[in-house]
Amino acid sequence: MSTTTTFAEGSVNVRPALMKAAVVHSFTLPLQVEEIETPIPGRGEVLVRIEASGLCHTDIHAAHGDWPVKPSPPFVPGHEGVGIVVEFGPGVTEVAIGDRVAVPWLGYACGTCDHCISGWETLCLQQRNTGYSVDGGFAEFVKASARFVVRVPEGVDPLDAAPLTCAGVTTYKAVKISGARSSDLVAVFGVGGLGHLAVQYARIAGARVVAVDLQDDKLALARELGAEFTVNASNEDAASAIQELGGADAAIALAVEPKAFRDAYGSLKRGGKLVFVGLPAENRVEIPIFETVLNGITIVGSIVGTRTDLREVFELHAAGLTRVVREERSLDDVNQAIADVETGHVPARIVFTP
Ligand code: NAD
Ligand code: ZN
Ligand code: ZN
Repeated sequence: MSTTTTFAEGSVNVRPALMKAAVVHSFTLPLQVEEIETPIPGRGEVLVRIEASGLCHTDIHAAHGDWPVKPSPPFVPGHEGVGIVVEFGPGVTEVAIGDRVAVPWLGYACGTCDHCISGWETLCLQQRNTGYSVDGGFAEFVKASARFVVRVPEGVDPLDAAPLTCAGVTTYKAVKISGARSSDLVAVFGVGGLGHLAVQYARIAGARVVAVDLQDDKLALARELGAEFTVNASNEDAASAIQELGGADAAIALAVEPKAFRDAYGSLKRGGKLVFVGLPAENRVEIPIFETVLNGITIVGSIVGTRTDLREVFELHAAGLTRVVREERSLDDVNQAIADVETGHVPARIVFTP
């Protein structure tokens, strides 16, 4: 309730009645940039004034209703929101007004189930997802659970912090799950928002990297970021090209079509591990049973990362170990930005500023 919320000192007008937001009204219509009511933080919640908000391909899947579990329009997408805490509801002890925080996909988890207490809060059945089941960061303000925002360290540019909030933490976790070690060859399929960071985390783990995409400029970027080999899957069979290198110890599938998952599977050496991360609208891939068994292949799904993973991601960036490639755009141009991501004509990530 507004009577119990705490405002930034001396800034009574910090929360305007209305704010600009990009809203999905239907899975078949473009987003509408319009004025909606500014949310009021309740118990345990904060209000964050957005400085930067990344466009993840997940937001596009959300806006199109691509997945078996769909969000309910109208809703505001965005789960790479970074900004300043300007107000909080009762019972907030985790952050203070003026803190810069990230508002990730994992907007809330129960904290008491088996998953939550064993370090797997990302599997909590009671979770709420920012920009999907609760309104997200494609707006001037976002309301968030104080326990699930993550502080952005001093010196990290909010425009860098935004892509790290999903693309970063997701690929950092996927590389952890892949078990990549210094003697390994890791294949990264899809060098978009996620992939350009996956290449860097695999290098930080000490692995050698082969990057696969359909576009030469993305492959050039992958090489700049540390990939030793690249394969253009639009004119080469990626699986055999990687087998010629000896096969991948781990393959991380980040692309938005099932073909990349088949190629990733085919690129593995015996005993290799395939990590599913991308979530194509076409929700099926055919995998042979016989070869999986005889070659001792592991296939595992990886969903974002925990708050601890995100803190580690920010730490690495603050230490100068990662580079975020992004282009700043106005939230007003959200539909053009989505079209550009769909045709692949963007440097790794687009970041909106309100
Ligand atoms: P993006 O559009 O920025 O990048 C996708 C890249 O894949 C592009 O560079 C594209 O050229 C490339 N690509 C397309 N087809 C390919 C193919 N056949 N072979 C190789 N490369 C190909 O998307 P993004 O934001 O990086 O997200 C990627 C996927 O990951 C999306 O489906 C998104 O929903 C999903 N995602 C999953 C998680 C998770 O926790 N599992 C988190 C975030 C995003
Ligand atoms: Zn995302
Ligand atoms: Zn839980």
